Amino acid sequence: MSSERRSALGFEEGRTSEAVWFNELTRKRSTGPVSPQHRIMPRSASPDTLAVHAGTYEDPTTGSVGTPIFQTSTFKLNDDSYSAFSDGALRDVPIYTRYGNPGQWAVQEKVAALEGGESAVVTASGMSAIASTVFTLTNKGSHIISGYDVYGGTYNLLREDMPSCGRDVTFVDPLNIDAIKNAIRPETQVLLFESLTNPLLKMPPIEAIAEIARSANALLVVDNTFLTPINMRPLSLGADLVVHSATKYIGGHSDVTAGFVVGRRKFLDKIWAQTLRFGATADPLCCFLLERGAKTLPLRVERQNRNSAAIADFLSRHDQVTRVHYPTVNDEVEAGACQGYGGVVSFEVAGGDDRAFEVMRNLRIPYVATSLGGVESLVSMPSNTSHSSLTARQKALIGINPGLIRMAVGIESVDELIEDLDQALGRDNGVRR
Ligand SMILES: *Cc1c(COP(=O)(O)O)cnc(C)c1O
Repeated sequence: MSSERRSALGFEEGRTSEAVWFNELTRKRSTGPVSPQHRIMPRSASPDTLAVHAGTYEDPTTGSVGTPIFQTSTFKLNDDSYSAFSDGALRDVPIYTRYGNPGQWAVQEKVAALEGGESAVVTASGMSAIASTVFTLTNKGSHIISGYDVYGGTYNLLREDMPSCGRDVTFVDPLNIDAIKNAIRPETQVLLFESLTNPLLKMPPIEAIAEIARSANALLVVDNTFLTPINMRPLSLGADLVVHSATKYIGGHSDVTAGFVVGRRKFLDKIWAQTLRFGATADPLCCFLLERGAKTLPLRVERQNRNSAAIADFLSRHDQVTRVHYPTVNDEVEAGACQGYGGVVSFEVAGGDDRAFEVMRNLRIPYVATSLGGVESLVSMPSNTSHSSLTARQKALIGINPGLIRMAVGIESVDELIEDLDQALGRDNGVRR
């Protein structure tokens, strides 16, 4: 087909190589998508109430108290669907589950409300949320700035796929504001940082980074997986978009893989369109599990905040522990900088990796497994899991020292977890406190 004929058919419309997507969507729509059956709560309600009620689909036929599972891949076409096709409003009418499903809309509205954002997209994983966001917000020839210790999957995406798609990436120390400022170029379009880093729990200054992004006319994307909206709402600190691995705290039960992107609808409509092309669909059962899990997010995270703080305090006084990584230990962060720090505590045991491996095996309550954010405590060693591909020198540079264990604290009794840690740390050499 000749290019003339293609443009005559409108195939080229809306295809741009410049960053005009900022203003492309002039439509009035600023919230949703939701149907008249989805429960809309005022964004001013407390997180506790929003987590339970925001977004619930109130089924008019049965009066079901919870959102039903709309286990279907497609929906009967009607006049609304046909006008959605002609108006380009496909995001707002149930047509085909890859495009939208009432179960997706329910959990999207809940997470959008919790993060204080206009709109959200639920995806099949945290990585698909991040990849869709970064691809959407950047053009060929553009530049991205991120932290050198971001989540491994994110690092590989930025390190491998972005350059091969014509995006240049600079990795900086996320705590070094001058380094971030100095990395800015005229073509910088996106800054991507995590609100709390893995496994060393650094807290980059999101407000200051947002200021840098704003003056560079770039967008700030914050991965808020570790803190959750219960502890920090990056949009209120100036971030443009929030991404999540909902596999962690939002799902909360280690039984579902999913992700979210939250922000203004004009961005989300574009990101949603990218998720369609990537096929990043969250299926109906996944949405049900997420919505059910997210209802208790505030309760779980508050408990995990308390459990991890008590465990960090206990570990910092244990003679078999040489160092604890936790925002309030060693004055790394002022107490009260945010509500809490979630469930992750990292610590180094005397005797290096072999000894750390032994300590993990001695534990009776936590499972040895990677991941975090579930109701059950997990332990793993970054050096032979998430950071195993790094050389000893690279590990040392990032601060992954021998003997480092990452504990993802669950909601169990903190006294029993501490007792368990104490016996696991002290058992072999008879050292007991
Ligand atoms: C787990 C994780 C991801 C990736 O999420 P998946 O759901 O596993 O795709 C991204 N960012 C952070 C901070 C994570 O912990």
